[in-house]
Formats: sequence, structure tokens, C-alpha cells
Amino acid sequence: MEMENDIEVCRREPSSGADKAGGGLEFKVRYNPSWQQQIIIVSQMGTGYVVVGGGCFGLSTALYLLEANKKVAIVRPTSISHTAHNDTSRLYRIQQSNKAAFWKTAAARSIASMKHRGVELVECGYVGIANGSSSWSRAQDGGIQGGIPAEYCVRAEGSGEWQYFPQKENAGYFNVIKWREEMEGKFKSLGGVVIDGSVDEVRVVEDGVEVEVEGGAVVKGEKVVVAAGAYVNTIPIHLAGGEGDIWGGVEGVSLKTQYTLSVWVSEKDVDKLPRCTMVYGGPTKGSAGEEPMDSFYYVPPVVEEGEGGRRSWRAKMGHGKWFEEIVDGRNKGAIDKWYREGGEKKAAAEIGMLELWRKFFPEVEPVKVEIVCNGITTDTTTGEPFMEVLGGGKVGLLGGCNGYGAKAGDEVGRLMAEKIML
Ligand SMILES: Cc1cc2nc3c(=O)[nH]c(=O)nc-3n(C[C@H](O)[C@H](O)[C@H](O)COP(=O)(O)OP(=O)(O)OC[C@H]3O[C@@H](n4cnc5c(N)ncnc54)[C@H](O)[C@@H]3O)c2cc1C
Repeated sequence: MEMENDIEVCRREPSSGADKAGGGLEFKVRYNPSWQQQIIIVSQMGTGYVVVGGGCFGLSTALYLLEANKKVAIVRPTSISHTAHNDTSRLYRIQQSNKAAFWKTAAARSIASMKHRGVELVECGYVGIANGSSSWSRAQDGGIQGGIPAEYCVRAEGSGEWQYFPQKENAGYFNVIKWREEMEGKFKSLGGVVIDGSVDEVRVVEDGVEVEVEGGAVVKGEKVVVAAGAYVNTIPIHLAGGEGDIWGGVEGVSLKTQYTLSVWVSEKDVDKLPRCTMVYGGPTKGSAGEEPMDSFYYVPPVVEEGEGGRRSWRAKMGHGKWFEEIVDGRNKGAIDKWYREGGEKKAAAEIGMLELWRKFFPEVEPVKVEIVCNGITTDTTTGEPFMEVLGGGKVGLLGGCNGYGAKAGDEVGRLMAEKIML
């Protein structure tokens, strides 16, 4: 350890096996005891990129930058609880990409890339069920536009008469938590650096960018990509030159909350449940004669290993728009609170989804259910993600998943990486 005036200069040693495996990116930690501030420099050997956020978009961007031989550090909180995808399994709904052509292409490319990266995708098919003519035609259109032959997009009534679309390679689910662990491991093994922390502020400075982390550390690099999901408008970004500062400045972004119901079932009941993913389009709000439940999706049970190797089976149900609540995207406290506690409609969502479960799967009574408020989708007015490069090319802003970003995140990350490298 050397001393430079009152600043200690040291090399941070890799702390975990994964860090060591990659040889690690060399970076300095300058520490001034009087300021209680560390400065981590990500740019010792050529262009250094800092990525804020380790969700589907941020992690994918970071991987592509690394694969383009850039030096990259991700800054993200240790806890995954404030991430849109805090879930063990996730279907990818390529059929629903008809809303925005962008997502259809992005999902197809992402899925191909994930397969290439060795990500385990469970391709179990998809079924669209509808109750009510308008929602049925929505589901049918979605199926046809998703590439499913029209003859398979036929109407199914009630439980037990599921129409299984045979488009196996385009419908199923993957485990997003596992994906994140594996991709982060790959990122580190290729020499990427992961810094635990929540970013308070981003500044463009003369020779690059400074990313200030809660607690006082500053990560310096040449460029930064901010991919903070629902938190995108809570991080002040100070741009150099006449561009002004950004705080809550990604226009047209709205945050919509979502609940998912985890349903544990006993092993003997597993085979009674559909083994494909499912989307039900119910009557829209206010339709006559029906409760105003809009729609739900279902993911087949996945097995989980508990203590002492005990196995349990957990299926998942997500709701449509009915329990949606809007969160103020500039209020970090409000977003935190929602992720921790859920909103006012939490209890109603649990009851409503459980009723639907019993209606559709009457033979399988849950052993246990848990409703979690694990999701906030970041929606844009165009329905497409935003991928801006500002601050003289030094700041990338990425987000706007519109509820589609898990399956399409790999491709969105690739596009952002290409844009910021220009
Ligand atoms: C309930 C629900 C269901 C969904 N279903 C599907 C589906 O079926 N198929 C599909 O493709 N997509 C689905 N999505 C969408 C998908 O989950 C998102 O598109 C995707 O996760 C968005 O990725 P992201 O990287 O933009 O955001 P996130 O995954 O939220 O990642 C943002 C990251 O930034 C971090 N962060 C936040 N603030 C800071 C800060 N200040 N400093 C550092 N890091 C910070 C967070 O901790 C988080 O790790 C669903 C989403 C929800 C909520």
C-alpha cells in the first residue's frame, strides 16, 4: 500500500472465487480518511464502462460490452428485492409481442442468444384461453402474430379443454434468478467487476464520468449506462455542457405495479395441472355479468429443493391489469415501499387470483399460497424501450421494459452496448 500525500492508494484484491477466476479488472481504490470517500477507477487499461443496475437490461449490456473487450464494472445493490424480476421462474410471452413489433424481433434474437449462452429455457408450449369475444380475438391475434398456425388458435372453453399450441420453441419460461446468477458469474469470469452498492448520483466530468455510490464511494469510468429499472428517474444525472441535468427526466415513463401469486401444490397433484404456460384473457372491466377480472398468466410448477433436500412444487400466477397501481417514479421512498409491502390492492389481488386458480384448476387445492409484490413495470408511451445516449456520448439511459424485457433483455442489452460504444 502506498501513500500519495493524504491519499492512500491500494489495489483491491479479488474477494471471491469468482473474482479470482476472472483475473479481475485492475482498479485502484483511493481513500481519503477525512472525506470518507473511496474512488474506484475503472479505466486503467483503455476505455472503462460503468453500468448502473444488474437487472435483465443492465447485466446484458455489461456482458456485451465485456465481450467487445471493454473494461466494465456493474454497480448494483446486493439485494435483488428491488428488481423487476425477483422471481424464480418466468414465462416468455413471444405471442404477445404483437403490441410492438420491436419486442417480437428482440425476443426472438434474445432467445437465440440465451440458448447460445447455455441458458436453460423450458420450452413447454403456450395456451391462450379467452372468455368473451373481444378478449378471445385478442388472444387469437396474439397467437397468430406469434407465428402459431391459425388452425391451432381455436377457442377453448373452461378447464380441461386446453388448446396446446405446438410452437414449443417459442413458448415457455426460464428462471430469471438463475439466469442472473449464471450471467453475473460469466461476467466476472471474463474479467468484469461487480460492485455492491446503490448509486446516488451520476456526473459527467471532463475526462469521463463519476458514479457516486451510497456511502461515499465514487466509481470513475469513461462512460456509464444507467439501467436502473423502476428507479431510472430517482438518480440525478448531471450532464456537462449545455444539456442540463436529468432528474426524473425520462419523459413519458410510468410505473405500474404487478402482483404474482406463488402456489405450492403437493407432488401427487402436479400432473393434474397444465404443463404449458397459459394466458387467460377474461372480460374487460365492466363487461356485463362477470367480475371485472381482466386476465392472468400461469407458469407450470417448478420443483424447489428445501432444507434437508425436501422437494416442493411451486406454480405461478400473475394478474392482468385489474390490480395495477401507479407509482410515482420520482419518489424513491414510494417505490421502495411498494416493493417491500405492496399497495392497497394486495389483499384483493390475493383473493381474486386464488378464486381464479380454483375456477381453472378445481382439482388442485393449494398447499400454500403467497402473494408477492415483486414487480414494477416501467412503461413508455411508445411501448418500446428507451435507449438514449446523452452527455456528449458518455451517458446511456436504458429502460422501459413495458413488461416484456425478461425474454428480450439480451437483445436490448446488445443494442445499448453498440450505441454507447460509438
Ligand atoms: C410481474 C411482472 C411480470 C413480468 N412478466 C414478464 C414476462 O412474462 N416476460 C417478459 O419478457 N418480461 C416480463 N416482465 C418484464 C421484465 O421483468 C422486465 O422487463 C425486466 O426485468 C426489466 O429489466 P430492467 O433491467 O430494466 O429492470 P430491473 O430488472 O428492475 O433491474 C434494475 C436494476 O437496477 C437496480 N437499481 C435500481 N436503483 C439503483 C441504483 N440507484 N443504483 C444501482 N442499481 C440500482 C435494481 O436493484 C435492479 O437490479 C415482467 C415484469 C413484472 C414486474
